[in-house]
Amino acid sequence: MLTAIVGINWGDEGKGRMVDLLSENYDIVVRYQGGNNAGHTVVNERGKFILNLLPSGILRPGTVNVMGPGMVIDVEHLYGEVSRLREAGIEITPEHLKISDRATICMPYHKLLDCLEEDRLADKKFGSTRRGIAPVYADKFMKKTLRMGDILSKDGLKEKLSDIVEWKNLTICGGYHAEPVTAEDMLSWLNTYAAPFADYICDTSEYLTEAAKDGKNIMFEAQLGALRDIDYGIYPYTSSSSTIAAYAPIGAGIPQIKLDESIGIMKAYSSCVGEGPFTCELFGKEGEKLRAAGNEYGAATGRPRRVGGFDIPASRYGVRVQGADSIALTKMDVLSYLEKIPVCVAYKVDGALTEKFPTGDALAKAEPVYEYLDGWMSDISDCRDIGDLPEKALEYVRYIEKKTDCKIKYISVGPSREQYIEVK
Ligand code: GDP
Repeated sequence: MLTAIVGINWGDEGKGRMVDLLSENYDIVVRYQGGNNAGHTVVNERGKFILNLLPSGILRPGTVNVMGPGMVIDVEHLYGEVSRLREAGIEITPEHLKISDRATICMPYHKLLDCLEEDRLADKKFGSTRRGIAPVYADKFMKKTLRMGDILSKDGLKEKLSDIVEWKNLTICGGYHAEPVTAEDMLSWLNTYAAPFADYICDTSEYLTEAAKDGKNIMFEAQLGALRDIDYGIYPYTSSSSTIAAYAPIGAGIPQIKLDESIGIMKAYSSCVGEGPFTCELFGKEGEKLRAAGNEYGAATGRPRRVGGFDIPASRYGVRVQGADSIALTKMDVLSYLEKIPVCVAYKVDGALTEKFPTGDALAKAEPVYEYLDGWMSDISDCRDIGDLPEKALEYVRYIEKKTDCKIKYISVGPSREQYIEVK
C-alpha cells in the first residue's frame, strides 16, 4: 500500500497523531516536503513528542523513516531533535533513519535572511516562522544551495560553500546592511551538526524504489495543509513547498509510483497560524473559548492560533486538491462544550453567496455565512465505536461527510494513540 497522509486545511489538523496511529501498518514513513517550520505532535505510551523534521514513524521501533529530496533540513535543528529523542530512550540508527542525499540544507544564513526580511516588512509581515524556509527554497530554485550529499565530499564542499557565501553576502550586507557571514563559520557549523549524520545520508530514491518493488507498505507524511500549498493555497500566505498528495511521490524520491490512497486529515473546526485570509475566523469570547478548548497554540512556535468554525467551502476545496479518498476527522472532542456548533456554510463575496473557495482578491474580501448545528454537550473522549457517539455527534459527522463529499473513515476524540473511532 502506498498511502499519502495529508492536511485538508491550514495545517495543524493532527497529522502527526494520525501518522503515529496508522504507521503501525506501514514499513516505511517518508517526509516529502518542508522543514522544521511545523510541528507534529504525537502522544503515546512513551510520552509526548513534538517532531519538526523527523517522520512521525520514528517512534515505532520497526519502522524505517526517510527524509526525502523535497525536504529542507536545518541540520542543527535535526541534531537537537535526534538528541532529545535519544534522551527519551528512542533508538535512532542508520537502519531506521535515512536522509536523502538530494535534500536541501537550510543554513544559518537562510534563517538570518528570513528574520531580516520579516523585520523589514514590519506590519506588512507574512507571519513567517523565521526558520529560513522561504529563503532556502528560493535558493534551491536559484540552484545555489548545498544538498545533504555535499557534506560527504570535504574538498568540494569548501569550494561550493565559499562561492555561495560570497553570493549571499551581496544580499546580507548590500541589501540589508547586516554583518557578513563567513565560509569558515558555515563550514564549522556543518562539521558540528551535519557531519554526525554522514552515515544516514544515502540515495533514498534507490532505497524506496527497491522497497516499492518488494511490496513494502510506504506512508508519505505531509507537513501543513492544502491551503498552505505554494500553488494551490492562499498565496502568498502559503508555505514555500508543495503540501499536496500529488507531490508526495516526487518529494519522496520515487516519482515513478502512483499512490494507492490519499487520506485527508481534517479538523472538526478550523485553525490557522499567522497572517492571511481566514474567512471563518471567530473573534471575541466565542473564539477565545474555542482556542482554549482546543489548546490552539503552535507546536513549532507557541503562537496562539486563529480559530473558526468548520469551514465547508475551504474544506471541500482541500478534499478536492488533495484527491482525498477518505478523511480522518480530528479533535471532535473539543466541540463537546458547545450547545450550538458554528459552521461556515458559504462565503459572501461582493454581496453574492458562493460555496466555492475563491482565490486572490475575492478570497480577501469574502465574509463568512455561519449556521449553527446542535451540539451534543457530553464527553466523547472515551468513545471507541461509532455506536458510542451521542446522536448529535453522529449527525455532525454525517453532515460534514455530506458537505465535503468524502467518506469519514476515522474520528479522533483525543490526542492519545487509542482515542479514536474507526468507521467500518
Ligand atoms: P499536525 O501539524 O497536523 O500534526 O498537528 P499538531 O500536532 O500541530 O496539532 C494537533 C494538536 O492537537 C496536538 O497537540 C495533538 O496532540 C492534538 N490532537 C490531535 N488529535 C486530537 C484530538 O482528536 N483531540 C484532541 N483534544 N487533541 C488532538
